[in-house]
Amino acid sequence: MRAGDRGAANAASRAQRQLRVSSLPPYARRIARIRSSFAEAGIEALLVTHPANLRYLTGLDATMGMLLVEATACTLIVDGRYLTAARGCVGRAGELRQTTITPVEGSYEGTLAAVLRRTGRGGRVGVESTAMTLAAFRHLDRALESVRSSGAAVELVPVERVVEAARVVKDSGEIETLREAAVRLSAVAREAVALARAGRTERDVATDIDAAIRGAGFTKPAFDTIVASGPNSALPHARLGDRMLRPGDGVVLDFGGVYDGYCVDLTRTVQVAPASAAFRRLFDAVSEAHAAAIAAVRPGVLGSEVDSAARDALARHGLADAFLHGTGHGLGLEVHEEPRISKAGTAHPDEPLKPGMVFTIEPGVYVEGFGGVRIEDDVLVSEQGCEVLTDVPVDPAPFLAGA
Ligand code: ZN
Ligand code: ZN
Repeated sequence: MRAGDRGAANAASRAQRQLRVSSLPPYARRIARIRSSFAEAGIEALLVTHPANLRYLTGLDATMGMLLVEATACTLIVDGRYLTAARGCVGRAGELRQTTITPVEGSYEGTLAAVLRRTGRGGRVGVESTAMTLAAFRHLDRALESVRSSGAAVELVPVERVVEAARVVKDSGEIETLREAAVRLSAVAREAVALARAGRTERDVATDIDAAIRGAGFTKPAFDTIVASGPNSALPHARLGDRMLRPGDGVVLDFGGVYDGYCVDLTRTVQVAPASAAFRRLFDAVSEAHAAAIAAVRPGVLGSEVDSAARDALARHGLADAFLHGTGHGLGLEVHEEPRISKAGTAHPDEPLKPGMVFTIEPGVYVEGFGGVRIEDDVLVSEQGCEVLTDVPVDPAPFLAGA
């Protein structure tokens, strides 16, 4: 076969494989994708223990559990708290037909060892090293001694980003959920900006925002709601306090919700009347950085390039040093996940953006003793560019609250 023919044949078989994978229902398709990455990761099986990854592959919403994904079988190990829910997930439309549910007996580690002893399988089993503590790894390795003494070769191999790499590109169902969640959070934001009035405490405002989040159909806030007023707003992750909002305060309102398991996240900064030029200067710079970053989002662009677009805009206003964090983070089953929209050279992978990625754009500036401004929206990378999922006016002027 000539090189060109081989290339064409490879492309054809790849297309066929993709077709086969995409015709499967979502959970079966996700598991098939994970399996297809085993060879590259140098493993024959993967032990999934990170709760968000467990949910991604089975639909099970549990704080603890183990899913052993092998080449042709899956074993879901859960304790009594999650047995009924696990049966529901596996029974659903036969999507996870090859999955056996095994209740925990004694300990999770001991139960996994018993499964491997019974099946006589093993080999190189990947463990999610970013989710497993060293102590858990040692317990597990010790429990597997009983498998080794029965003659099977089992080796635990720490791996990273096997499931996370699949989660970074959302499928159509996930996009639909995130779109709906963003519409609902935008409605909360419109209410929230009107809640920041002089005489109310940060805590009062946050309590009302949390109630609005639940009222909008979210299961819960995605993180502790931030209401940071006046000088407190100079802290990017300000803790909620009893400070009373005063005339002229800038107020950062940052909140999120979990909708059907998926997280959305939004920030608006308003000013309690009267307006001031000092606040306006910061606001206009951040607003420009926010627009520049969104304009840079399209397939093929690196996350760090989107970050630079925001950073360069702030630098033009002499505020480069006041931007104390990355431009954005991925959204999905977790409120902070891949991709990271941050400076090149950080610990995070800096990959080209792909259609289906969903993340925040949230530049901010923080001036100690004065205050800060942050503007955050959620975006989806589309085939051509970018779709902003949240829909709330950026400018606080229409909401400027009376003193
Ligand atoms: Zn946020
Ligand atoms: Zn955020």
